[in-house]
Amino acid sequence: MPTTNMISRRSVTEDAQEVFRAVALIELGARMQVLESELSLSRDRLIRLYREVRGVSPPKGMLPFSADWYMPWLPNIHASLFFNTYLFLRREASCSHLDALTKGYRLYLEHCKRTEGEPVLDLTRAWTLVRFFEAEMLQLTPCCRCTGKFVAHKHDLQKGVVCGACQPPSRAGKTRKAARAVEEAIAAVIDEETSVVAVNEAAAVAA
Ligand SMILES: [Zn+2]
Repeated sequence: MPTTNMISRRSVTEDAQEVFRAVALIELGARMQVLESELSLSRDRLIRLYREVRGVSPPKGMLPFSADWYMPWLPNIHASLFFNTYLFLRREASCSHLDALTKGYRLYLEHCKRTEGEPVLDLTRAWTLVRFFEAEMLQLTPCCRCTGKFVAHKHDLQKGVVCGACQPPSRAGKTRKAARAVEEAIAAVIDEETSVVAVNEAAAVAA
């Protein structure tokens, strides 16, 4: 008597798409926990893919879990830039969560390169950031000076708050300029005039 195969079967195309998504995430620095929760490939296949793409075994250890990491001024500016881009891709460019994560993160890296700033946010932090927003632990708060929206704890004050780019600590020195550039990028992301540019950039990055 033939038995029914209980394992759900994906088409070859769907399977290939999952592999491409996995490769894209691994190239951007995704950890195993990110891959396992975002993709339907088996753990063994993910480990093999990871070894193939990076040439080493995936690192072990816990994921970062504190939302406080995003609060000091420099991580906050970078996190705010990424999250504004992510939201833009979700809402205006109708990207899926996974597409917005990878495209948004690539745009973020591009931006760091253009402004000669070191990326502060790695892909795992970017992914965790989105999770914190989904869990309603974080919110976007408007800056009362530049009107850019920045990452803040859920129940923090919403009015009369100044962002890290408008008020960098005095020790910031050279990174001040980079911070301002990031802040301008955030303003650009939320400015409708530049929507088309951002979408084109996203498309170019995705290609
Ligand atoms: Zn500001």
